[in-house]
Amino acid sequence: MKIAFYGTKPYDKIWFEPMGKDYGFDIHFIELPCNEDTIFLANGYDAICIFVNDYVNAAMIDKLYDMKVKAILLRSAGFNNVDIKAAENKLVILRVPSYSPEAVAEFAMALLLTVNRFTHRAYNRTREFNMSLNGLMGTDLNQKVAGIIGTGKIGQAMIRICKGFGMQILAYDPYPNKELDVKYVSIDELVKKADVISLHCPLTPETEHIINKDTITLMKQGVYLINTSRGRLIDTEAVIDGLREGKFGGVGLDVYEEEEGLFFEDRSNDIITDDNLARLMTFPNVLVTSHMGFFTQEAMQAIAIETLENAYALENGLPLVNQVGTDGAH
Ligand code: NAD
Repeated sequence: MKIAFYGTKPYDKIWFEPMGKDYGFDIHFIELPCNEDTIFLANGYDAICIFVNDYVNAAMIDKLYDMKVKAILLRSAGFNNVDIKAAENKLVILRVPSYSPEAVAEFAMALLLTVNRFTHRAYNRTREFNMSLNGLMGTDLNQKVAGIIGTGKIGQAMIRICKGFGMQILAYDPYPNKELDVKYVSIDELVKKADVISLHCPLTPETEHIINKDTITLMKQGVYLINTSRGRLIDTEAVIDGLREGKFGGVGLDVYEEEEGLFFEDRSNDIITDDNLARLMTFPNVLVTSHMGFFTQEAMQAIAIETLENAYALENGLPLVNQVGTDGAH
């Protein structure tokens, strides 16, 4: 199988290059992202392999189909960046539904601990021998209420971690999991009662801007908001308004509405034209990270294995257990 591998970073090659050879695949590593301008590079390949900030829209699906490309191999769990409907009967879409839920959940807790206890600011202060504690007071998590939106694999890992901190759990999910020892409530009740809100649902038309002006109005004063899921779950301007009014104790964002073209890249020498992102960076109780919740050795290795297993199954006519649309993903 010949695979055009878009958006290659050095850390992708560590696993994909040797493992791809073991599978006998011919992988062509392309540094450019997959978009309308670069889709022509897939000509002559059996499959393209893409990551979260690559996208494939309906027009690109048609081009891939014309070029006889058979599959899109997603190196991610989320698939909101591909027009699934347009791909029906044209291309097979395979994803990596689970690689390390703990990697993302542990990072969500790291964001919470950072914005609550200001370790990011303490690090900078002590390096300059500024040992003052002014402005660095946090709150205990023990006995506080964690509101978990989305109780799939990552949400469940986050619930386990929060319970370890002695937190009480409220959850919202339109598909409740009866085996979980948590109290499911409506989204309104969750945002009203939670001291910490952590997002773990996929981006769909129903969840887009699930955190908005109205839900923020319902939230407790001093609430902590953590998003390691997808940027468009949050209406950024509404969060900025809330931050300006002092509503939030802290906000930790690993994902951002307009992250495409920015996240995963070094833009330190560029003028940033995204005023919302620039404004977010000015708040002392906000931490933005560059979509790195997944980024552990274990997760990267598992992503490579699962992606290549998906390609192997396709090439050898084996059951496609991770095919989007048939794998039970909502
Ligand atoms: P999952 O499919 O196991 O769980 C998603 C859960 O969300 C399911 O229980 C589902 O019922 C629920 N859900 C669906 N619609 C909902 C709605 N309207 N409101 C609330 N809940 C809803 O997925 P997962 O593996 O737990 O991953 C969750 C998300 O995390 C992914 O969709 C992806 O966007 C994101 N993610 C981020 C990173 C990162 O590096 N930051 C890495 C992997 C995944």
